Formats: sequence, C-alpha cells, structure tokens
Amino acid sequence: MGKLKIWQNTGFNRKINTICRFYFSWHDYVLFYRGVTVLQFNIKNYSLGSKLFSIAHNQDALEKLRGKGLNTAHLFGPSLMFYPEKESFPLTCKNLEKLSICENYDVLYVNEQGDGWVQFANEKDDNPLILTQRCNSNCLMCPTSVSVRKKENALCIDYNIELIKYIPSDAKHLTITGGEPFLVGDRIFDLFNEIKNRLPDTDCLLLTNGRALGYIPYADRLLLCAPKRLIVGVPLHGYNSDTHNRITQTAGSFDQTVSGIKNLLFRGFNVEIRIVVSKLNCQFISRIADLIINEFPHVGSVKIMGLEMLGSAAKYAEDIWIPYDVAFEYSKIGIINLINRGIDVGLYNFPLCAVDNNFHLLCQKSITDYKIRFTEKCDDCKKKQNCGGIFAGTIRFAKNNVMPWR
Ligand code: SF4
Repeated sequence: MGKLKIWQNTGFNRKINTICRFYFSWHDYVLFYRGVTVLQFNIKNYSLGSKLFSIAHNQDALEKLRGKGLNTAHLFGPSLMFYPEKESFPLTCKNLEKLSICENYDVLYVNEQGDGWVQFANEKDDNPLILTQRCNSNCLMCPTSVSVRKKENALCIDYNIELIKYIPSDAKHLTITGGEPFLVGDRIFDLFNEIKNRLPDTDCLLLTNGRALGYIPYADRLLLCAPKRLIVGVPLHGYNSDTHNRITQTAGSFDQTVSGIKNLLFRGFNVEIRIVVSKLNCQFISRIADLIINEFPHVGSVKIMGLEMLGSAAKYAEDIWIPYDVAFEYSKIGIINLINRGIDVGLYNFPLCAVDNNFHLLCQKSITDYKIRFTEKCDDCKKKQNCGGIFAGTIRFAKNNVMPWR
C-alpha cells in the first residue's frame, strides 16, 4: 500500500468515558462488537486479496476516505463496492446485517478468502492495538490462558503499523497491549513513531510488564518515539523478588520490572502502577504500597484492581480467588498510605458493594461494556447507576457477595 497522508481536522463526534482495560483479548475483540456476538463477516467470491480498508456508508464519508488515498469499501444497497478497484461484491443477508452495524470510518480487515472483521471502531471510546498474544511472564492470575499466550496471533507488527494509517487523527484513545507488546522486538518503536506522527492528540495507554524497559537502550528508544500523551501501565505483584516472581512464575521478573519503572520515571514518563489483588498477594498490599511510596513516589497513579476470573485465573481459582470485599479490606491501609503521600489511587473492577462508602470516589467504571454483569439483587440497589458491575467471567465467583445498597 502506498504512503498515506495523516488525517487532520476530521470532525468525528465521540463521547468519552473512563478508559481502563487490564488485558485486551484478541479473541474478545473479534467476537464481541457493539453487543453482537459474532462480528466476523464473509464476502462471497471476494478476489482483491487481504487488506485493511475503511468503511463508508454515504457519499460524504466515501469522498473523504478516497481523498486520503485509503482503501475504502462503500456499503451500497446489498453490496460492498471497493475502491480504488471499483469492484462490487454482493453480500448475503446475514453479512449485510453484520456490516450494517459498522459506522463510517470503522477500519476492517479482510483476508484472501473474504473472511473479515473489524479492527477499529470509530465511535468507541477506546480501541486496542494487540501486538501479540505471547508473553514472557506466566502470571497465575492472568485472565488469558497459557494456550492462547503461546499462540502467535495471525497479524503482525507491520499490519498494526499499517492500521495506524487508517485510524482517524481525532481518535481519542488507543491501548497498545498484548500479551507482552515488547515481544514483537524493536519494530515496536516504528509503531510508536507512526502513532506519534499520525495521532498526535490521541491518548495512549501502553500495557506492558515493564521488563523490556529495564534495558536502558529500550527505555531511551521509547523516549525518542513515545506519543505525547502516553501512559505506561506496569503491574507490580509483590514487594520483593519472592512475592512478585511467585505470581509471574518467572525468575528475575521483579528486578526487571522495578528497573523498567525506574527507567521510565527517570525519563519523565507518566507511569501507572497496577496491583491485581488476589489470594496470593492480598496480605502484603500495604507493603507493595510502601515500596511504591519509597521507590517510585513520582508515579502518575496506582490502580488497585479486582480479579477477572478467566484463563489462568480460572484454572488456579483455588489459589487465586478472594471475594472483592475481602480484597478491598486487605488493600485499604495501602490505599490510605498512598493517598496520604499524595499519590493518585484508583480502584478498578470493584463493584461498589465491595468497597466502603467513603472510598467510592476512587472506584471507576473500568469493565468493558460487553463484559459487565449485574445480579438480580442489583435491581434493588440504589447505587446501580454508579456501579461498574462485575466481570462476566467472575460473576459465578462473586454473586453470593453482592449486597445491594438500600
Ligand atoms: S449490589 Fe450490584 S449494583 Fe449494587 S453495588 Fe453491588 S454489584 Fe453494584
């Protein structure tokens, strides 16, 4: 594909809500979209090869997209007309229905067989760039399974770099995630350069275990190409090697992560430390908080996070799961100590009934919309409107602890 111009001054209206994801799952993103269970589509007799394209529903969007030199498909009647080829493919009713859900400027991918899916949803508050499913840690409470983490996803770094060219320049938020994003190697810096140049006003959250950034040349290179509005989210599972590495099941990971956080802070990055509270570390959340206070007092924020019981977390539920209210109780002193030191604290993934009333302002609606569940009891809760709910994958563990506010 040829060189494309940066999108500028495009008027796309979007609303912003809280942005937080722990791990994006490639599988989730492909299979769930705007409340539709399966968004994959097929274009029968498709013959134009694999490619990314933007979708247009009307003439105005079509002209805008063609003016940018982007591969475009115009949904016109029951057909999809591709540009610049000007070839039209009729859609079956089922596929027409699926593609009709897409909005102008959504970015889609289609492979040689005509199978496709959405890559960027224009009106969504946040979109993920999933660079790889692989990870160099093996955290016991990871909501992705080992088998998924061992698979290389079909799409590579070049593909993600190309995708950036299709994303409108007024996109509000991107989450660059994995697996562990740095496992794609140093092409990751090309990706950051693309984001920096093409999406200068987009808020970006990089979710990484931070280990690669313990390597000073990597931290230096990230500094050179980091998008202006980048937050780096790094999980800390323990207060020393024993407690952290026991959860990551990876020797040396604590030292590397700590070095990574220090390297980032030294270079002026906005770092968000993430603590996932499980049975494995609940007893020492306040010691992790002390470590942050003493070693990383200039972090941008600390997020105390409730469990998502999928993947490895579900497999090791006996060792991992504690109810959200118990997790909060264990975390309380650490939270207070962090706040007393002027460190911004947020609570992610905790239903409000698991948290003391006077901490509710810290709770954020952090669960992605299609994963949010409430129980029948929640219908009687006067705080339901403000509650972020419970992960779909966790409700079977958490439902008995739900206590409506009356
Ligand atoms: S009862 Fe339901 S709605 Fe109310 S705080 Fe708990 S989970 Fe949220």
